[in-house]
Parts: sequence; C-alpha cells; structure tokens
Amino acid sequence: MSVRTRFAPSPTGFLHIGGARTALFCQLHTRRLGGTFILRIEDTDRERSTQAAVDAILEGMHWLGLDPDEGPFFQSDHTQLYLDAAQRLVDEGKAYRCYCSRESIDALRETQRQQQIKPRYDGRCRTRSAFPADQPYVIRFKTPTEGVTAWEDQIQETIRFPNDELDDLILVRSDGSPTYNLAVVVDDHSMGITLVIRGEDHISNTPRQIHLFQALGWPVPEYAHMPLLHGSDGSKLSKRHGAVSVLQYREDGFLPDALNNYLVRLGWSHGEQELFTRQEMQQLFDIRQVGRSAAIFNLDKLLWINGHHIRTATPEQLLPALSQQLDMLGFGVVEPERLLRIIPEFQSRAKTMVEMAEKVRFLFVDSVLPYDEKAAQKHLYPCAPQALITLQQALAQLEEWQAEVIDQCFRQVVAQLQMEMGKLAQPVRVALTGTASSPGIHDTLFLLGRDKSLQRLQEAIGHMQK
Ligand code: GLU
Repeated sequence: MSVRTRFAPSPTGFLHIGGARTALFCQLHTRRLGGTFILRIEDTDRERSTQAAVDAILEGMHWLGLDPDEGPFFQSDHTQLYLDAAQRLVDEGKAYRCYCSRESIDALRETQRQQQIKPRYDGRCRTRSAFPADQPYVIRFKTPTEGVTAWEDQIQETIRFPNDELDDLILVRSDGSPTYNLAVVVDDHSMGITLVIRGEDHISNTPRQIHLFQALGWPVPEYAHMPLLHGSDGSKLSKRHGAVSVLQYREDGFLPDALNNYLVRLGWSHGEQELFTRQEMQQLFDIRQVGRSAAIFNLDKLLWINGHHIRTATPEQLLPALSQQLDMLGFGVVEPERLLRIIPEFQSRAKTMVEMAEKVRFLFVDSVLPYDEKAAQKHLYPCAPQALITLQQALAQLEEWQAEVIDQCFRQVVAQLQMEMGKLAQPVRVALTGTASSPGIHDTLFLLGRDKSLQRLQEAIGHMQK
C-alpha cells in the first residue's frame, strides 16, 4: 500500500515556520516512497477560521514548493460525514447522549477538586434510559475504561496511555457541531491516510483517535509526532524568535530552497551534511530518522544556508526574487535580460535577496549622493581630480560599452597615469556606487551603463574640486 500523509492546518492564522516544517516533512516522506501528500484545511472552528488565513496558507505552501498532490480539502464540507459516524456509534451502543447541564458538570468538577481527584466526566449518562425530547444533549464516546492504548510512534517510539485516565469524549456538541477528534478520525479514514505526521502537542489526542478508529472498525494509521520548535532561549518558538509568517521570510529575502534546507535540518540529519538540494532531500528524507529532542531555531544558520543557496542558484532562479525586491524598493519592473547580467556579479556578495537588492540599488537610482562619508574620505577625496578627468575622457571615447573594452581602457589610463590599479579603482568605485564595495570595476562600469557612469564621474570631479 502506498503511503499517504496529510498536512492539516487550522486556518486561524498564517502559515508559520513550524507548520511549514510539518508540511515539508509530510511531503518529503511521500516523495521517496512514491506516495501522496494531502492538504486538509481544518476549518471546523467557524468563529476563528478566516479566508485570509486559508489564502496565506496556500500561498505560503506554494512559495515553498509544498503544493499538495491532493486537496485542499475543507472540513467544513464534511460535516454530514462526521455526524453520520457519530450516529453510527450511538446506534451501535458505542456512544451515547449526555444531557448533563453545564451547571451539573461544574458541580461534579468542584466535588472532584475537593476530593483531589483529576476533574473528569464520570459517565453518569452512559446508563440513562430516559431521553427527554426538548432538552439539549451532547454525544459522548464510551471510552474504554480498562486496558492500555499504545502505538509505535515512528519518531517517539512506543507510547502508552492507560485508558482509565481518559474520560468520555464529546463527539458532537449541543449545537450539533462535531468536535476535532471525531472530524480528524473520519477524514483520516476517508482520505486513506496511512501515516499521520504532526506536532508532539497532539500526542494526547492520539489515544482518543485510536479508540475512535477501533470503535468504527477502521484500520488505525501509523503516527509520527514531531518534536516542537524552540527559540534559542529554549522556550517554545514565538514571534519574537522568528515564528512569523513564511511569507515574511520571502519578503525578507530568503529563498524557498534555503528555507526548506534549513527546516529539514531541524530534527533530521544525514551524517554531517548541512546543505541539501531539493532533490537530495527528496531522495534521502525518512521520517523515522527524525530525532526526539526539541529543535532550536537559529537565524544565523538560516542566513548562512540562504547565502549558500544564493551563490549556487542559477541567475534565472534568482530573477523573481530580485525583481520583487527591486519592485518593493520602488524601481518598478526591470527588464529580465538586464537583471540576468547583473545577478552573477552579486551572488557571492549577499546573504539575502534584500541585501542583494541593496547592493544593486546604485544601478537604478538617479544619483548616489551623498557618498558614504567614510568611503569618500578614505578613497575619493585623497585622489587627484585629474586622474578621474583623464579616465572620464578616455571612457567617453569608447565606441562600444563592453566589459572587456572598458577593462582595457581602464588599464591604459592606469598605465598612463603611472598609478596602482587600486588607487584609481577605489575612488571610481565611490563615484559610481557611493560606497567602497562593488564587483570588479570594469563590470561595475559596464552594468551601470555609459551615460550614468560618465555622469557620476563628472559629479565626483565636481565634488572633489569644491
Ligand atoms: N488542525 C490541527 C492543528 O492545526 C492539526 C491536527 C492534526 O494534524 O491532526 O494543530
């Protein structure tokens, strides 16, 4: 039987980094085994679910290359299926109507607290024979009172729960709405899920879900409960640690391949290897190799991995991200051919696409003034204006504006002025970019174009002569 996994987010917020990791593990696990990855939106909580959250989840998953093989399915479309399953359990004597009022349950809890026993429903409606027609009721499951429920978790190994610790679970609320555990079991069954991969915070739901599978006569899937993500201070990952929407990472200049590479290493390893292509992850990942200790989120490592993926990507792969960043900086749409010439010169210089956009910014602005003060003091002002004048005149004569021709011209001027290469290149760099760093000087001149280059040299000469 081929493996079927599902990612089942509740659309009550954006897709954050922890959810993305769950989705990635679900998808990767099926890739190697030729299985199917399913997306199920758990929108039974109508009050807290929003369309905006659904859209953000779908967009985040698409950006990360985590589009499902099947779905998205919506639990709100399946209400009748859940209610039918509950009714079947009632008909078979495995669930019952409970008419206990809120007040009587509160009173029960209070008594239990006083007796210092764990507050829980005591099953008093199990044996009821009267069913008052006009009173609200919930449907409760007859949880087994003896024995142990255990499963071989693929990450946690064997987990056991004594059944007498669990009370009778509500399957359908008094307003007729099905509850989470019922909905999950019915869907996991009807979608043919063979392996449930989810966060460790759901471990306590699993024995209840196993009971329901058994009562309904359905095969129980396998489970893999992933350790949660923690911030660098050891506490549960929150906004302040970077648990923001994955789309924020896109805005902050991270590449989807880098984020996936980073996420796959949070809990999973393959020897000492840190850097993975997508294909490698798909070939190597195995959920059973995920470790049991909490994974720590580390932004520096993510930056390092992102820098690697920027360096090794093709310019075509970086094009959409750089275009988007330049657009966000207000430069509108730049011709792709131009960007494809620019990108290779900056790939080794940026850890994020935001940084790359900042570094190429000088190519698009009208003026680089004011100069970075330190760079100008160190390189531009000590240089004789005559050197820049000579260079500007020589460059203005060039018939072709090509990197090689520019390089030759630059070398001739350096020789003629009997200067060291760097003594001319650095002031020119400040004049062209406003800063002390850029790609090779002839590449910088070439990418900037004739008009802007000559104009910026002119501007610098004016500045130096002041
Ligand atoms: N909807 C649940 C959540 O967002 C996940 C349920 C599950 O994976 O079984 O936490």
